[in-house]
Amino acid sequence: MRQNILRTIPSVNELLESPEISKLTDLYPRQLVVEAVREVLEEIRQSMTNKTNINEIAMSKTGTKRADSPPSLDGSGQVGMVKDREFSDEEVMSQTRDLSPQKLYPIIQQVLQQKLCGIEHAINATGIILHTGLGRAPLAEEAAKQIQNVLHSFCTLEIEKYSGKRGFRYHNIEQLICMITGAESAFVVNNNAAAVLLALDTLARGKEVVISRSHLVEIGGEFRMPDVMTKSGALLVEVGTTNKTYLKDYENAITENTGLILKVHQSNFKIVGFTEAVDLKDLVSLGQARNIPVVYDLGSGALIELQKYGLPYEPTVQESIKAGVDVVTFSTDKLLGGPQGGIIAGKKKWVDLLKKNPLTRVLRVGKLTIAALEATLRLYLEEGLALKNIPVLKMILTPLETIEDRCKKVIHKVGSETRVCMNLSMVDGFSEMGGGALPGENIPTKLVCIHSDKINAIELANKLRNSTPPIFARIEQDRVLLDMRTVYDEEVDVISRALENIFSS
Ligand SMILES: *Cc1c(COP(=O)(O)O)cnc(C)c1O
Repeated sequence: MRQNILRTIPSVNELLESPEISKLTDLYPRQLVVEAVREVLEEIRQSMTNKTNINEIAMSKTGTKRADSPPSLDGSGQVGMVKDREFSDEEVMSQTRDLSPQKLYPIIQQVLQQKLCGIEHAINATGIILHTGLGRAPLAEEAAKQIQNVLHSFCTLEIEKYSGKRGFRYHNIEQLICMITGAESAFVVNNNAAAVLLALDTLARGKEVVISRSHLVEIGGEFRMPDVMTKSGALLVEVGTTNKTYLKDYENAITENTGLILKVHQSNFKIVGFTEAVDLKDLVSLGQARNIPVVYDLGSGALIELQKYGLPYEPTVQESIKAGVDVVTFSTDKLLGGPQGGIIAGKKKWVDLLKKNPLTRVLRVGKLTIAALEATLRLYLEEGLALKNIPVLKMILTPLETIEDRCKKVIHKVGSETRVCMNLSMVDGFSEMGGGALPGENIPTKLVCIHSDKINAIELANKLRNSTPPIFARIEQDRVLLDMRTVYDEEVDVISRALENIFSS
């Protein structure tokens, strides 16, 4: 029986030679069409073996693509085929009776579109504010505008307009960072991972780096501290234990071959209970006494004290600089809320050494990053402006009433015909900072909860992801949850309309 069914599937060549599909090869590169055809046929074969519904192939294909970065974004842990129920052999047979080029054309067309589609605007209803899969920090309007200004024509990237002389690419950023944090010197590279690598390469190549065992962290996306050290040619000297490290552990590990002392912020986990860590100030004193630089990988790099606003403690760049650290590194697209980048700041003596490393040229950022970062940093000159205009900060501080309003709007905007297909309600829950900041700290939020007898939660989340623009949601216990903390006001209506579209088809 199975063999008979499989035989009804047309071959790749048959499809390519059909009038319908050959239209596609006139429009697009042949290789791409062949790939799309192969993919669709493979999915059909699989759906037959799994006895699932082949009509869902186009949807599930796109679901697969989206869901694998990041994995199980919607919390379902499930990627790939939508599995409604098992179909009998007869049903599978009847589904596949007419696998004609006409019938397959729209599916192949859709897969092709998927392959040609670049990154696009998405709605983040996951409630994870810094979502690496969704591009981390969304930019402030000021930053986006500044990119546009610079994009259209020429710009003063590396030239001083007053003297006409060649300037320093990071001049404005350096000034801003120094003003905001009190650092003596600063510049920016491609991301914080690059900043850490550069610091290690410059100060500790062929030398020893003393680090607490509690700081040998993995940030995700292949950034593991011990591996970065190996790559830089530094020798790792682990001290202390996972939960307790004392100043004397560092003291005892220092030799004439020590290049630097490294502290790493535990940005995506917490060690609680029987613990002991060394104060940055004490590390700095030790480093000064032995003339060894102390480098602190701050991870998120908050520039504003979050505690003032009732949020949990996150170390700020300012307090590290004040403690006398020689070099700090931090991301510019985490809590700072700017474009991707990694800032290096601290004492002139050490930061200038890093600037001169040839690797700095390799890790150089482009004018778009500089334009956006300068505009973002300028907002920090006035804390109120930063809080009001930087989306990441604004989202953390959005009052519950505002989020509640958005939930109500989504629910009320959905038409009554659609409403009979599903149960829409507002529920309490928690948003997350994400992106390696404020680990384990949940921020209370309000969510739109959708439950339907007509369509299961995985399938609904799939359809939301395949709406235009794509909407990313959470799944919990066969319910789709939309956290309205991370949804922009102008996106609220778009969500209601997407729900109507899904249930009207
Ligand atoms: C996020 C993070 C990194 C990596 O920063 P990117 O900007 O993503 O390269 C490194 N170290 C720590 C402690 C982090 O939190």
